[in-house]
Order: sequence, then C-alpha cells, then structure tokens
Amino acid sequence: MASSNVSDDFLPDALRFRSPHPLVDIGANLTHDSFRHDLDAVIDRARRANVGTLILTGSDFDHSEQAAVLAEHYQGLYTTAGLHPHVADQWSDDLGRNLAALQRRPEVVAVGECGLDYNRNFSVPRDQETAFEGQLQLAAESGLPLFIHERDAGQRMREILKAWRDDITHAVIHCFTADRETLHGYLDLDLHVGLTGWLCDERRGHHLRDLVGDIPLNRLMVETDCPYLLPRNLPAKLKGRRHEPALLPWIVREIAHWRGMTEDALAYATTTTAMAFFGLKEVTTHCTDDSQHAGEA
Ligand SMILES: [Zn+2]
Repeated sequence: MASSNVSDDFLPDALRFRSPHPLVDIGANLTHDSFRHDLDAVIDRARRANVGTLILTGSDFDHSEQAAVLAEHYQGLYTTAGLHPHVADQWSDDLGRNLAALQRRPEVVAVGECGLDYNRNFSVPRDQETAFEGQLQLAAESGLPLFIHERDAGQRMREILKAWRDDITHAVIHCFTADRETLHGYLDLDLHVGLTGWLCDERRGHHLRDLVGDIPLNRLMVETDCPYLLPRNLPAKLKGRRHEPALLPWIVREIAHWRGMTEDALAYATTTTAMAFFGLKEVTTHCTDDSQHAGEA
C-alpha cells in the first residue's frame, strides 16, 4: 500500500467521501505535473474513497508511456495510450507503430485519448482527422476499445465513427458535454458515454442534468478528468483547486440525484459497465477501519 503520510490532509474532512460500492475512474490524468510530488497520497486517498481502479489517460506517446509505467507499479491502475487531437500534428507512421507496440502491454486497456476538438483547433482539423483515423485503425487491428475526446465536432465525429463502427469493438465518448441530438446520435451508434463533474456546474452543465437519464446504465461510465474540471458545487473549498480521483463519489452522487436513483445503484452499474468495457477481471477495493476516512460527509 502507498504511504499515507504525504499530504494526507490535503483534502478537508468535508471532502473525504467514500463510495458505498467500488468505483472506476475512467479518466484520470495522473501524469500531469500537478501530481508529481504527492502521487502516493493521491492514490491512497482514492482507495480510501473506494475508488481503487483508475484508468489513466494517455494523451501523447511520452505521457502514455509514463502512465504505463505507473500502471505497472500501482495495483488497480491501468491506462489508455494514444494521441490527443490538440497534438494531432505529431502524428506519423512511426508514431503509430510505437503506439501500437505500447498498446500491446497488458496495463494498456484502450486506444486514446484520440478524437476531434474543433473548439480550440490547436491542430488543424485535417491533421486531427488523420491522427484519429490512424488510431481507429490501431483499435481495429488490436481489438482494444477507444477512448474518444470530442468537442464541437459531434457531426463529423458521428460520420467518421459510422464508417468504422463495424471494425471496432467498443468506444466511449469521454467527458460528454454536448446536446441531446448528439447524445442520441452516439447512443444510436452503440457507443458508451463518460460523464464528469461538468453537470456539477450550474453555469454551463445545466442541460446535462436533463440528459443523464437518457443514457442506458450499460452505456454509462464516470470519470474525474482530473486535475481538470473540479466540481463547482463541492461542500468545502479546496486549496489549489486541483481535482483528484478521491472526489469521484461526489460526482456519482450528483449524477444519481439527477437520474433519480441511489448513489449505490449508480456506483454498482457504472463499475459493472466499466469492467466489461475495459475487460477488467476485478476492481480494486480498499478496506479501512479508520473511521476518520469513513466518508461521513
Ligand atoms: Zn478529453
């Protein structure tokens, strides 16, 4: 077990949640610089919150490789390996071959993060499509599921996925934030949907609250996308405003509320879905008799 003496009190007591059922955080950017100094404590807090299984997000070759090393080291950690649309201009045949080799490692459970982001267009759309199609090809060849990022590109994404749908096993649109029409387009393509704390944001997540009930439980998974997207309605202030996997139970509570179901039932369903999606044999649990961490919040 990771040592718990490093920054263990980073989370105020009011934010020490504990899920009633083991959770899988399907999107954690733990190779981000902000986790460099206290990763042991972050993973320990996640386990105490009953978030013992983390799918790290690999957003380029180097970060995917670093994430694979972490996943090899820590029990309950797995990773994706891919190239994010922001850096799609890095794509080359060589990079594709290197990613394919990385994706053969047992701790790599999905191809991605890959996709289209027309919101910021840090890489031009043509490069984004080339890199995305290259990674669709990798997923088709390996049989691995896809971890997809899409922002303001819903229509083009659906066109491309429609053409590839028969060649790939599963795909999840991670951090879904779009509208009802886009959601149903994805569900019609038999895709999975990842929800973050976006709907905890009363300024911009309002429309999602009406949509979450449309997602079948066997298509719905949950994620923090940490260190980004710290939920805005947490019951206590967080110094540094860094999001982390231990806060996932709060997001599950919020989604359960807007779906009109219990936190326990939603936790159970999303974990069952994530295990099947990523081909995980079992989820990691962490037993604690330390009442200080029993999630009384
Ligand atoms: Zn993303």
